[in-house]
Amino acid sequence: MKKLLPTSTAGSLPKPSWLAQPEVLWSPWKLQDQELIDGKKDALRLCLEDQQQAGIDIVSDGEQTRQHFVTTFIENLNGVDFEKRETVKIRNRYEASVPTVIGPVSRQKSVFVEDAKFLRQQTDQPIKWALPGPMTMIDTLYDNHYKSREKLAWEFAKILNEEAKELEAVGVDIIQFDEPAFNVFFDEVNDWGIATLERAIEGLKCETAVHICYGYGIKANTDWKKTLGTEWRQYEEIFPKLQKSNIDIISLECQNSHVPIELLELIRGKKVMVGAIDVATNTIETPEEVAATLRKALQFVDADKLYPCTNCGMIPLPRSVARGKLDALSAGAEIVRKELLAK
Ligand SMILES: [Zn+2]
Repeated sequence: MKKLLPTSTAGSLPKPSWLAQPEVLWSPWKLQDQELIDGKKDALRLCLEDQQQAGIDIVSDGEQTRQHFVTTFIENLNGVDFEKRETVKIRNRYEASVPTVIGPVSRQKSVFVEDAKFLRQQTDQPIKWALPGPMTMIDTLYDNHYKSREKLAWEFAKILNEEAKELEAVGVDIIQFDEPAFNVFFDEVNDWGIATLERAIEGLKCETAVHICYGYGIKANTDWKKTLGTEWRQYEEIFPKLQKSNIDIISLECQNSHVPIELLELIRGKKVMVGAIDVATNTIETPEEVAATLRKALQFVDADKLYPCTNCGMIPLPRSVARGKLDALSAGAEIVRKELLAK
């Protein structure tokens, strides 16, 4: 990116109410068959237009075509039985009924490539595409086949690599892997989590990102955050190894979080998507609040490597709130951009 402080969002944006029930996760579709296919495309275009009107520089599909950032990808794989469900604790935090791995996993066909191609046709702006990371995928499943988190993660990494290469080929500029699980299973992250992620990006020429957050603004997550104390030092456990990895960009939660901002020093040299928008509140940040977060981050991230972003996806938020937050992100980045250029 040539533009200083290019803005983007972490991932999901609210869907129109005619497509799916707003403000809930795993919301069922309201349309069917061809109407659903067309409806998803219309939603993608509207979501793109919202980002463009707000002045977002690196745009995305806002995950309009998927029900959930992990599940929708897994639905398209062989070896996973969605009828056979088990209750597991996701990220050691909340119980959910999840599908079961019953045999070797493989990709039946491209999952998001047609959607990415469609987004590419709509805009010349840089586009970012999010995929779930291997560790977060295994954490959203019950494994009755490999019986090894690590083995299953390596299999998913291979599958993700196939998908990522196809996304790159249709013109995606940045491929992002969502790994909220990196904030929970530190030993595994260091043992094989980062290694499997590097397997997922093997051979890619486009830019790559990993998004590591404290989750959507849902109750299970906000309750968990209350148990983390006043200083959140989770990133400290994994940053040293991430700094040495081949991942280009690291997407982090910084706004209203209790992450000591100086931890960013541990990934000096990486591009950082700095979360300057809190997704766990309907209060829309002022541009000045966004600017203040970015200025803090600038102490530890070089200006040409700082990408203003949201803390996480905004699917659980009302549409008007998400739109207001996009405007605030853009305006806040512009304040700091002007300051930097005036120097
Ligand atoms: Zn997130």
